[in-house]
Amino acid sequence: LSLDQQLRALVRDVPDFPKPGILFRDLSPLMRDPRAWRLVVEGLAAKVESHRPELIVGIEARGFLVGNALAFAMDRGFVPVRKPGKLPGPVEAIDYSLEYGSDRLEIQEDALAGAPRVLIIDDLLATGGTAAACASLVEKAGGVVCGYGFVAELTELSGRNRLQKNLPIEALISY
Ligand code: IMP
Repeated sequence: LSLDQQLRALVRDVPDFPKPGILFRDLSPLMRDPRAWRLVVEGLAAKVESHRPELIVGIEARGFLVGNALAFAMDRGFVPVRKPGKLPGPVEAIDYSLEYGSDRLEIQEDALAGAPRVLIIDDLLATGGTAAACASLVEKAGGVVCGYGFVAELTELSGRNRLQKNLPIEALISY
């Protein structure tokens, strides 16, 4: 079995979560299996190494789990991007629109001092709205985005088209 097939077999498909009509890809069984999780983290590390990240930025909440494991494996620092009001200030913030309404992401103002090359990590790329907002926030805070990494992507939602065209986007599993 290929890496993609091995990992895919562990992902749980949950119909009508969190809303009717949505097929949720639950990646938590990958984390529950230490061998699979090692394959995920090492597989992602191998894919992003050539983009030469100096820091890993993870998006709350599942992006923390993937991003922090990856940062540890690659011996890089980790910086959290959080939902509003969670980080002690001062913070930079970015507002972005969702299908219904809007949301906001925050990062500590001094977290990207020295303009490091930043790799943006989340568990899954869907429409790309979250990752695109995170990239704008990283730039606002003085970082240089060098690429994106995801455990999985939902290709039919064309999330890649919402991210900067010239930057590499790595995903281990494609749906
Ligand atoms: P986007 O902004 O539409 O790309 O949505 C991506 C965000 O929603 C990520 O933070 C994911 O954690 C979450 N997400 C959306 N769909 C799924 C799914 O099927 N499984 C796990 N997370 C998802």
